[in-house]
Amino acid sequence: MSAALLDGKALSARMRERLGQEAAALPRQPGLAVILVGDNPASAVYVRNKEKDCAQCGVRCLNHHLPAETTQQELLALVEDMNRREDVDGILVQLPLPTQIDADKVIRAIAPEKDVDGFHPQNVGALCIGQPGFVSCTPAGIIELLKRSGIEIAGKECVIIGRSNIVGKPMALLMLRENATVTITHSKTKDLKDVCKRADILIVAIGKPQMITEEYVKEGAVVIDVGIHRREEGLCGDVDFERVSEHCSYITPVPGGVGPMTIAMLMRNCV
Ligand code: NDP
Repeated sequence: MSAALLDGKALSARMRERLGQEAAALPRQPGLAVILVGDNPASAVYVRNKEKDCAQCGVRCLNHHLPAETTQQELLALVEDMNRREDVDGILVQLPLPTQIDADKVIRAIAPEKDVDGFHPQNVGALCIGQPGFVSCTPAGIIELLKRSGIEIAGKECVIIGRSNIVGKPMALLMLRENATVTITHSKTKDLKDVCKRADILIVAIGKPQMITEEYVKEGAVVIDVGIHRREEGLCGDVDFERVSEHCSYITPVPGGVGPMTIAMLMRNCV
């Protein structure tokens, strides 16, 4: 069997075009404050890309690039300022932050109604008890991709590898909301291969290049690869695409799968 591709790039482009039309019809242009501290090259690339995405979706991007030695107090003061500004609808603080800054404190300082990343404890709590709020963009984008590709979630066995606050945990809550039967696995899980082989939908967010081979995948499963790794030959994911795609029914490519959907959801949250 050779899997069908879940084309996040194409779906994201369609969503962003529609968001651009929606934004143009609003009484005021939506504004996103993007705060970058220090010179992490990967973060700088993400921020540049966000600028382009904002332009495409009719969102005004207010970039704040602070030096690496910025203090926690200085960053908190900037966040407070963005909280107060009426032309700023969303605030995004690019992670990771330099070690002198406590990222949790900064996330908690963002007004929950401007927390377009969905990382604030109030938004995470709302997701947990099924109330409205911003949802972390990567898991939300995966749900959108599954649904718009006509993949049924209700009643399916879903195994998630990874329990991070930004991917694994919110992913599990969203799949539960969609009535999947959910298993979360992590580095201490015993017999990981056997657990993964139960999955109708396998969602992989481990941060280990191409770790997941066909030995972890049930024949005909849907495989979602969240991982992103830069190598000399180009980007790759946490899944060994060549080997796994011979055995599953649907698979997300890297690049062009989950990544573009994350951006589309961020833009949707802003608009
Ligand atoms: P984290 O490093 O925060 O979490 C990784 C998780 O994987 C942890 O829960 C860890 O377990 C688990 N893990 C690590 N090794 C193993 C193993 N050998 N077996 C089983 N579980 C294991 O990563 P993130 O969730 O932030 O990101 C995961 C990947 O997704 C990264 O490659 C990242 O770059 C990418 N990413 C992509 C995004 C996109 O838009 N496409 C957005 C966000 C992330 P434990 O908790 O026990 O340590």
